[in-house]
Amino acid sequence: MTTPLDIIKPAVRALRAYTLSPHRASVKINQNENPWDAPAQIKEEVLRCFAARKWSRYPDFVPVSLHERLAGFAGWKADGIIAGNGSNELIQALLMVSMGPGKRVMISEPTFALYRQVATVLGGEVVTVLLTPELTYDVAALLKTIEETNPDVTIICSPNNPTGCVIHATDLRKLLGASRGLVVIDEAYHEFSQQSVVPLLNEHENLIVLRTFSKAMAFAALRVGYLLAAPELVTEIRKAVLPYNLNAFSQIAAEVAIERYEALLGPTVSAIIAERERLYREISQIRGLAPVLSKGNFMVVKTDMDPRQIFEGLLQRDILVRDVSGYPMLREYFRFSVGTPEENDRLLRALNEIAG
Ligand code: PMP
Repeated sequence: MTTPLDIIKPAVRALRAYTLSPHRASVKINQNENPWDAPAQIKEEVLRCFAARKWSRYPDFVPVSLHERLAGFAGWKADGIIAGNGSNELIQALLMVSMGPGKRVMISEPTFALYRQVATVLGGEVVTVLLTPELTYDVAALLKTIEETNPDVTIICSPNNPTGCVIHATDLRKLLGASRGLVVIDEAYHEFSQQSVVPLLNEHENLIVLRTFSKAMAFAALRVGYLLAAPELVTEIRKAVLPYNLNAFSQIAAEVAIERYEALLGPTVSAIIAERERLYREISQIRGLAPVLSKGNFMVVKTDMDPRQIFEGLLQRDILVRDVSGYPMLREYFRFSVGTPEENDRLLRALNEIAG
């Protein structure tokens, strides 16, 4: 007997859905968000501009003024930019125009789960290269796999969610040189690493860079991301983006955030970086815990206990971290995002109680 589910592609049926645990806690450090809310000055200016705008009218067909501001902000051409409803939408759009049966994407594991999910839903094949045992990019293995499998698309997350490792410019140049396909660098967390591959866009027409307003920019609720690439590629990727994908509110908010970044958001990024380094040092001192150096606003920690026990122990103390023990290579790890100094103190006290 056939059932409606028989219509679903077998590769999709075999996928484990990308989900998030529904737990709530007052110290919420499970989603790599900025622990400080968007500054009041930004909120007030956005609300004022939005109130003055006609709600009966569609957003801009192409948000040109935002693209122009993004161009100045990121250091790339306005006609080589697409703003999206979160960078998730742009990951999907670029895979929609490049993936399908007979097409191949190469990713490292462990990494952000959405790449595999979207490529698989679209009927593409996913080729996986593991990180090194130190949880850094295995550049030699990536180069070998490019040579052997000739992927249509390679996606590198830098800093990598969830491990925090980065790809260095010299290594990226090697991957770009070896690859006949597109190479995508997901820079969702680049502000915390104080480095970017955007300058390489001028030299490599197969490079695509993705960024988001959801992390350093403190706008996760507003869903704004952007893609940077050669204008000819952007013209093609745009064909997979629905009209008016970016709502008018988010567009206004993004423009205000760019203008105020230096004065109002930059200092929170510096504080998060300093706290990340403090947490690394202090967690290294706790018996049975081994943090992994990270360039993001998050960190994985190896534990000689069952990581589920750490997760539950923290939750009992009203602290929510991410259980990443189901990811490849991370059976003994949990991940937290860097909170405010007070939240981080609570995390350290709790870890000392649970593991110390
Ligand atoms: N890329 C990476 C590596 C991420 O971790 C996330 C969010 N967790 C995203 C992209 C998606 O971000 P956005 O909110 O812009 O859709």
